[in-house]
Amino acid sequence: MTWQNWAGTASAEPASRYWPRTAEALADAVKEAGAAGLTVRALGSGHSFTPAAATSGAAIDLSGWTGVISADSESRLVTVRSGTTIREINAALATLGLAMPNLGDIDAQTISGAISTGTHGTGARLGGIATAVAALELVLADGSVVSCSAEQRPDLFTAARVGLGALGVVSTVTLRCVPAFDLAADERPMPLAEVLARFGEFAADNDHFEFYWFPYGKNALVKRNNRAAEPPPPRMPGWRRFVEYEVMENTAFGALCRTGRAMPALIKPLNRLAAATLSKRSYSAPSHEVFVTPRRVRFVESEYAVPRESLLDVLAELRAAVPRLAHPVMFPVEVRVAAADDIWLSTAYGRDTAYVAIHQYVGLPYQEYFRVFESITSAVGGRPHWGKMHTLDAKRLGELYPRFADFLRVRDETDPDRRFANPYLEQVLGP
Ligand SMILES: Cc1cc2nc3c(=O)[nH]c(=O)nc-3n(C[C@H](O)[C@H](O)[C@H](O)COP(=O)(O)OP(=O)(O)OC[C@H]3O[C@@H](n4cnc5c(N)ncnc54)[C@H](O)[C@@H]3O)c2cc1C
Repeated sequence: MTWQNWAGTASAEPASRYWPRTAEALADAVKEAGAAGLTVRALGSGHSFTPAAATSGAAIDLSGWTGVISADSESRLVTVRSGTTIREINAALATLGLAMPNLGDIDAQTISGAISTGTHGTGARLGGIATAVAALELVLADGSVVSCSAEQRPDLFTAARVGLGALGVVSTVTLRCVPAFDLAADERPMPLAEVLARFGEFAADNDHFEFYWFPYGKNALVKRNNRAAEPPPPRMPGWRRFVEYEVMENTAFGALCRTGRAMPALIKPLNRLAAATLSKRSYSAPSHEVFVTPRRVRFVESEYAVPRESLLDVLAELRAAVPRLAHPVMFPVEVRVAAADDIWLSTAYGRDTAYVAIHQYVGLPYQEYFRVFESITSAVGGRPHWGKMHTLDAKRLGELYPRFADFLRVRDETDPDRRFANPYLEQVLGP
């Protein structure tokens, strides 16, 4: 059965496919595939734009390996099966009075897929989802099951939290959760010049700050989400949420994108129209409802993590480059921030980070845009999101990650025969 990712940028024909529903079945699948001489890849929800999960060997589909295994209300440690989606985790945590400290834009990913590629949200004092992982259980190449944490096999733990599926199949993930909290959301259009001038202030003064900039418009949509003060701002009525997020950001925006794809000469004015119709919203809601928005308009994406102090230079170059592209850009640029962390292959390893994500509507040319973007971010030591489109190879990535060699050492120790190899890992980690 053909496997394809969400964006349609990667597909594969796995030689065999497993749907484990127990820990034993998961370990047996790895053993059986090994005995048949097949390489092994775990499948998450297919939301990586890169062919990270693609395999012509054995694909282990984790959609039946889901749910909460244990939850400790005192330590707030919650252990889940690796195929559990973030949506399912949010729902389960809400019933326990708990929440994830920070999340990305969507909740369709599996927890293991999300951490394996370094999925992140925004917040200058917060890390990506993998920084909330307290322990992992992994099935190694020989089918053995090992646990790791900061105390137990610390090197494996530091490597496997953002492990690209290169070290084994993650079987369970223990998350360090926080008490459930509401966020007060403030979303408003603002002149891009003002956002850039106040970037440092906005990043420092808000729990979660990000902005979207339509490349041909003068306005950015600024999102500032903060732990709700007492009394919190009002909830957004369901009908308004539907209009704002489903109609404006999906149905109407999707219609603009389809028009632009059919008539590329209209893309620039449509882009300006989208920027001009941005509206102000202010409301409060449980944190996961604020973090996550529906994304039904399909796109392709590249995202680079750059040193935070380089952000303004990167955007200045991007602003200069976009009008010169042969093919116009339909989608906005998204800018987020994260705190430095200590996970070897985390894009925020060792440095306070700004993330710049560029997108293009599916079916429109993106190659030149993404190439230009990559050359701009390369000049400042940009590190690509492991799940988003890029062309960097192991040699270049080795220069960008100070502990790259340590990751390769752990890979050699845990998977000397490259049971978990695929062409993407060959590109980014080497043979
Ligand atoms: C609409 C959209 C919005 C997005 N928003 C964000 C965002 O806000 N922030 C962000 O950082 N990223 C974002 N992404 C990227 C996305 O979060 C990552 O690509 C993530 O890896 C997808 O998770 P998945 O479950 O689909 O994993 P997949 O794409 O299926 O797999 C990713 C990798 O993880 C490996 N893997 C999966 N499960 C396991 C396991 N159990 N053990 C070992 N390896 C495993 C796979 O083999 C593969 O290498 C977005 C993507 C889309 C399409």
